[in-house]
Amino acid sequence: MGKLYDELSKDIEIKHSMYACMDCGTCTALCAAAEFYDYSPREVMDIVQSRDDEKIKELISSNKIWYCGQCLSCKQRCPRGNNPGGVILALRRLSEKTGLFAESEKGRQQLIAKRLFGDNMLKRGYTLLATNPIPSHFPELGEDWEYYHEHIKEMREWWGVPMDLENSPGCHRMVPEKDMEELRAIYKATGAVDLMNKVEEGMAKKLGGKEEVEKFWQSYQDNVDSRLYKIKEKK
Ligand code: SF4
Ligand code: SF4
Repeated sequence: MGKLYDELSKDIEIKHSMYACMDCGTCTALCAAAEFYDYSPREVMDIVQSRDDEKIKELISSNKIWYCGQCLSCKQRCPRGNNPGGVILALRRLSEKTGLFAESEKGRQQLIAKRLFGDNMLKRGYTLLATNPIPSHFPELGEDWEYYHEHIKEMREWWGVPMDLENSPGCHRMVPEKDMEELRAIYKATGAVDLMNKVEEGMAKKLGGKEEVEKFWQSYQDNVDSRLYKIKEKK
C-alpha cells in the first residue's frame, strides 16, 4: 500500500463504492463505454483493489478514467454491491489533485470543463450559457445560426425568455446574488473550488506556464478541438 492508495482510500466515494471485487466482469460486459473504448471497469476495480501505487499512477495518468459516462449501470448489476462508476469519480479527483490528469489528452480536457461549466456555475449559477457556443463551433448550422448569435438578446426577448434579468423565465436569467453567495460557499466548502484551481495549476505545470494554458484554451475556442494545441517537448 502506498501514498496514492492511502489518499484514494480517504475519498468518501471509495468508502461507498468499493467493497470486494471478485473480478467477474459483469460490469465490463454491460458497460457502454467498454464497447467503444479501450476501457474496462473490471480492470479499474482490479487495479484499485491491488493497492499498487505504480498501477494506480499509470491509471490516473491515462485517458481511461475519463471514458466512463457515469450511467451507473455497473452499480445496479454488480453481484458484490460495488459501484465502479463511483470508484472512477474518486480516481478522477485523485488525478486532478496530483496534477496527473494533465498527462493524458482526455484528462487535459478538464481545463475546458472547468472554464466552461465550473466557472459558469460560480459566476452565473448554471453550467452552460446561451452565449458559450459561438458560430464557428457549429458551421454546419449556417447563416440562421450566425444571425441568432448576433441578435441573441432581441430574439430571446421576442420569445419571452429575456437574457440576464433577475428571476426571469428561461435558462439565461440572473440568479439573485444572495443565492449565488450560498452556491459559492457550497463549492468552497466541498472542495470543488480547490479542485478547479488544481486543474489550472496542473495544466500550467504540464504545458510550461499560464501563457501556454491560454493558448490551449484559445485552440479550443477557435477549433473546438484542443488536440490541435501541440505540447512542447521538455528539453
Ligand atoms: S465490480 Fe462487481 S461486477 Fe465488476 S468485476 Fe467486480 S464484482 Fe464483478
Ligand atoms: S458508470 Fe461508467 S463504468 Fe459503470 S457502466 Fe456506466 S460508463 Fe461503464
